[in-house]
Amino acid sequence: MGCGVFGAINFDNQSVFSHVYWGLRAENHRGHQSHGFLTFKDGEFYSYKNLDLVPKLKTSAIQEWLTRLPGNIGIANVRYTTSGKIDDQSIVQGTQPMMAEANGIKLAVSFNGNIVNTQPLLREMQEHFSNFICSCDSDLVINKLLLELKNGKGLEEAVKTAMLSLDGAFSVIGITGDGVLFAFKDPHGIKPLCAGHSHDCKTYAFSSESVGLDINGFERDFELEPGELVLASKDGFKRQQLIENPRKAFCAFEFAYFARPDSIFNGKYVYEIREEFGRNIVKEFPEISKDADIVLSVPETGDDPAMGVHEASGLRWERASRRHRYVTERAFILLNNERYSTIDRKVNILGSKVAGKRVIVTEDSIVRGDTTKVIIEKLRKSGATKVYMFVTFPRIIGPCFYGIDMSSYGQLIGSRHDEKEIAKIIGADTVCYQSIENLVKATGCTKNELCMACITGKYPTPLAQKMADEMKKKFIHGYQEKGRIYEAGSESQGVQW
Ligand code: SF4
Repeated sequence: MGCGVFGAINFDNQSVFSHVYWGLRAENHRGHQSHGFLTFKDGEFYSYKNLDLVPKLKTSAIQEWLTRLPGNIGIANVRYTTSGKIDDQSIVQGTQPMMAEANGIKLAVSFNGNIVNTQPLLREMQEHFSNFICSCDSDLVINKLLLELKNGKGLEEAVKTAMLSLDGAFSVIGITGDGVLFAFKDPHGIKPLCAGHSHDCKTYAFSSESVGLDINGFERDFELEPGELVLASKDGFKRQQLIENPRKAFCAFEFAYFARPDSIFNGKYVYEIREEFGRNIVKEFPEISKDADIVLSVPETGDDPAMGVHEASGLRWERASRRHRYVTERAFILLNNERYSTIDRKVNILGSKVAGKRVIVTEDSIVRGDTTKVIIEKLRKSGATKVYMFVTFPRIIGPCFYGIDMSSYGQLIGSRHDEKEIAKIIGADTVCYQSIENLVKATGCTKNELCMACITGKYPTPLAQKMADEMKKKFIHGYQEKGRIYEAGSESQGVQW
């Protein structure tokens, strides 16, 4: 599931709730269907979960929150669903952090990612836990760890077994029943997760993005390595590489869309990379750039590339598309029926700025094409004479199995249509995608350090590759997928995996 995770421990026995609260608020862009906090005190877990955005806390209610969530260790999670059902009750059931207990062993985890081999894991859990109920893949993650601990393994061995057994993406922060805060990443490191500490070295924290540390005034120490387990101790972080020579595959879509622009990946701010994306597209499409009067962006992930386009082309960056400040939903991570109306309400066009103009619009990606179509319709209505789309993430041709909700070929406009056809469908004069080579270069990573499965068709984990290949064969012959490829059993999808 698409999620943001945060966790912290204070070694001076001070309440950690406020750090965990602010860390999570900084990551609300990673999921807004639900949120949850869990703290640990004297061997007990305390939790609070609810739907929607992380709430604002009234000063008058702070004491109530501190009483409800006591203790010096805490983890938290914001979620949007890429696994499990999407009715309110199911979203609440799937809200993290999760807790589990067996034979007196307790565990709590907050997880970001998506598990692909759900069917065999489900069977394994049902075999070992008689009352096992699975609302989504986070139940599988926590119970797999619990099973290994119950079988007598230590934390390190349990995590290693989980790393080798789970196919997919998982960045996990957890608390053991004896009060150890730990974090680990899958052997490909698909999802972000970093570590940092307070200036007095009393508090240590893990966060999906560095903005969760910044908001707390913490220093960022490092990004976890793929296949690495890290424990927080009063002397600092204890790092253990559990899987040797992992094939790094960090999600390239984080750079284009998902992460906040003020987060740091690979030693660079995300906004710097997005500016470079904009400069790259101008270099790749010089004739189109010369044929435009202004550049504008789809706020907010298009803003930084627009700056790059402005710098490279000399075109004025006209702030002609404005976002309603309090319509905070991210259209991409909304459910299908909410998406169209939200983008319509969220973005307003300043008509006088675009009337009679040839416009370049910078956009992070085109997934289904519906939100881009709405923007273009608005621009045309306002009198734009040409609309050229500059899209920083290359054409998405295949589903994501790792926690971004584009989970079938059928929902992706780019799986069925080339650039020209896409332009026609969404009403643009031209759609100009950044090339994969330039995207890679701008991130500062090599192509072997990134996951780009949805734009190349090459998946870093074996089962995802098998599922994608088999479903693609059927899809091009007219088969309509039944929901998320990785969730429906192979029989219901009519293929073998
Ligand atoms: S398939 Fe695409 S969206 Fe999914 S993890 Fe890989 S790069 Fe990211």
